[in-house]
Amino acid sequence: MSIKTISETYLADTYSRNLVLTEGLGSEVWDENGKRYIDFAAGIAVNVFGYSDTEWADSVSRQAYTLSHTSNLYHTEPAALLAEELVKRTGMKRAFLCNSGLEANECAMKAARKYSYDKYGAERYGVVTLKNSFHGRSFATLTATGQPSMHGAFEPLLQGFDYAEPNDIDDLKAKLDDRVCAFLFELVQGESGVNPLDADYVREAAKICKEKDILLIVDEVQTGIGRTGTLFAYEQYGFEPDLVTAAKGLGGGLPIGACLFGKNVESVFSKGDHGSTFGGNPVVCAGALNVLKRIDDRLLSAVKEKGEHLKEELLKCSKVKSVTGLGLMLGAEVEGDAKEYVKLAEEKGLLLITAKSKLRFLPALNISDVILDSGILILKEILK
Ligand SMILES: *Cc1c(COP(=O)(O)O)cnc(C)c1O
Repeated sequence: MSIKTISETYLADTYSRNLVLTEGLGSEVWDENGKRYIDFAAGIAVNVFGYSDTEWADSVSRQAYTLSHTSNLYHTEPAALLAEELVKRTGMKRAFLCNSGLEANECAMKAARKYSYDKYGAERYGVVTLKNSFHGRSFATLTATGQPSMHGAFEPLLQGFDYAEPNDIDDLKAKLDDRVCAFLFELVQGESGVNPLDADYVREAAKICKEKDILLIVDEVQTGIGRTGTLFAYEQYGFEPDLVTAAKGLGGGLPIGACLFGKNVESVFSKGDHGSTFGGNPVVCAGALNVLKRIDDRLLSAVKEKGEHLKEELLKCSKVKSVTGLGLMLGAEVEGDAKEYVKLAEEKGLLLITAKSKLRFLPALNISDVILDSGILILKEILK
């Protein structure tokens, strides 16, 4: 049997997929027939330094040969240094390490509920999120996800969630009543079409939340780790979050999530309040630490420049109606079916993904100018 047949027979049928990928290096990847593709999706914003980056692979394999897994009953150097780096680079106070984006969001919402429970009692447990958001696929994060089409078969969902219209401050005000403990949001809604929030809206929302002691949880699972041209996107919005979640790009290709706690919530969890068997795994953390240390000002300004370049070139194509996003997280509204363009691009050797009706671009942050331009050339052929 072919790999594709085995995969389709034995894996749960939760994704539609076509290619069998066998090898990758940087921003290039090869399929089982030896066909080469330029990759503008990077494992959905995960491979920040592309496939099989040597420095990252060295850090990971050295750690795998030294101390692979310990459980959280012991301190280890990689987890300690990763938490230190995350804290020092953000001004947050502590990090909880877990294994995915949804877990980071779960952690943040648990922290918000506990903060409110300790301070105001049991009735103030509400979480407001935004319509069209995406926060994950566990029951809590699926409930938080403001897309009713995803809820249907899985109800009843969790109690205490409400959904506000993005960029509508009056709607948010009405929803932030005295039973709400947290406002959870993405600064650029990724899965629903790469739509950034207005800066004024975010500033006003942050002000209202501070006044009411409602915690601001920023889901930076997709926007974080340099993706938007700053380490975290909130730096570009000028407010202080209480909780920040990260995942995707943080591990450079291995599963990791992190929930960062600001000064208000630094001590909200005590021993036993939260946990994870694999969270903080030394091998994964060694890779993440290597990734984080290499996201410096030079790389970040290159991300901004490359993002601008890609955006300008996309806007020259007649089939592109608009381009939204920040840094190397872009979405293009196109004439016709975005999925058809994904197929056309694949035929020509370029991997793309969609976000709702848009084409979505999330290349590796270190994609070379040459490869970026080769990919753009293919885009220009199919989007003319
Ligand atoms: C991908 C994503 C998640 C979920 O992350 P997983 O690692 O798949 O659990 C949550 N929030 C946002 C904004 C995401 O893009």
